[in-house]
Amino acid sequence: MRFTQFFIRTQKEWPRDEESANARFLHRGGFIEKIGAGVYAFLPLGLRVLDRINRVIREEMNAIGASELLLPALIPKKYWEATGRWNVPVLYKSADSSGQEYGLGFTHEEVLTPILARRIQSFRDLPQALYQIQTKFRDEPRARFGLIRGKEFVMKDLYSFHADIKDLERFYWVVSDAYKKIFSRLGLPVTVVEAAGGDFTKEFTHEFQVLTPVGEDTIFYCAKCDFAQNKEVAKVSSGDGCPKCQKGKIEESNGIEVGNIFRLGTKFSEAANLVYKDSSGKEQLVVMGSYGIGPSRAMGAIVELNHDDAGIRWPKEAAPFEAHLVALPGGEEQADAAYEHFTEHGFDILYDDRADATPGEKLADADLIGIGWRIVASAKTALCGRLEIKARDSRDAELLTPAESADRIRTSFHVR
Ligand code: ATP
Ligand code: MG
Repeated sequence: MRFTQFFIRTQKEWPRDEESANARFLHRGGFIEKIGAGVYAFLPLGLRVLDRINRVIREEMNAIGASELLLPALIPKKYWEATGRWNVPVLYKSADSSGQEYGLGFTHEEVLTPILARRIQSFRDLPQALYQIQTKFRDEPRARFGLIRGKEFVMKDLYSFHADIKDLERFYWVVSDAYKKIFSRLGLPVTVVEAAGGDFTKEFTHEFQVLTPVGEDTIFYCAKCDFAQNKEVAKVSSGDGCPKCQKGKIEESNGIEVGNIFRLGTKFSEAANLVYKDSSGKEQLVVMGSYGIGPSRAMGAIVELNHDDAGIRWPKEAAPFEAHLVALPGGEEQADAAYEHFTEHGFDILYDDRADATPGEKLADADLIGIGWRIVASAKTALCGRLEIKARDSRDAELLTPAESADRIRTSFHVR
């Protein structure tokens, strides 16, 4: 993609009303625009990042046999009344000119469960797993920290339907493993944390927390084993001995919850009369699970963890492009030829072909935008017929031919 054709507008000034690093850098890099408290527009660069994150999520969801669908955001009141959630505080309500009232979806058990109730007949129809990636609305009184807590945000929500608790339990841990893969591919180190069941279940749920001082949650974890609990449910405190391994000490950290998995049980299948006939022909309630990831929050968390003074440092699978090619004076022709080479070989490259930007502006923008690989063509590189290629997080540049540069980029990617 040519810089001169793609809509990119990096900003010279920091935003006045944003304190979090993710909001500040995403604004400066031209990824997002604040429209109101907790409400953001994703500009073309930002949408690319979101799409890359969603691609990783889709690949891992499809790999565990889940089917993607798309549910509406505008949900008639009767659906919320059926489960007793019409009056929950986070629900945005709306009405149309005919007087029909709606709630804007903050989660989608209410819509999906009746759809399944009309389609599941017997134990042979189970299990099922369905997910969507969709805009959610929540009246969050504390919308802040940029993309971390929005009133409108993107969620991947997966719902699973099982004949019994044993099968739910099996799938619950399959999803947990898929989540670990997703966050690892996105460069987000997560701790799996036991948390309260909310209004769904008395058992623990599990949160996928990125431990960082800027998180809103407080996590107690063992430095020696995988024991971790959210402070809201914790029976331990900092400095205690670990109740699991008996060896480590409990430490405390803030965390950003990027994912959450729940055993729902039969609460929603009861409300929608979602039943199946077992092998003896007897009607049984379907047992459900629900599993969320916040792709937009994950995007914010990635920036919180990966930036320096000059800009963002995108992990490879979240970067808006695979490499950032910069033409400096004297290197224009070489850069044009290299761009053609990369494009012909299927690479998705951002090519800074601006004639009216100074070398300093181009390199500063490359740092700010933060794509993992930077390739420079200049008078010097044109002379030797090689390109200068450098990783965003390294000081050392190498001189490589276009074909060698392509190999370097290709081998650094999980996909391809
Ligand atoms: P939190 O505890 O942070 O309020 P939650 O437990 O209510 O979140 P879920 O209902 O489990 O969140 O939603 C699934 C995922 O959606 C969360 O793990 C998080 O990544 C994301 N998410 C939830 N609320 C928001 C929000 N207001 N803005 C951005 N992402 C969100
Ligand atoms: Mg939570």
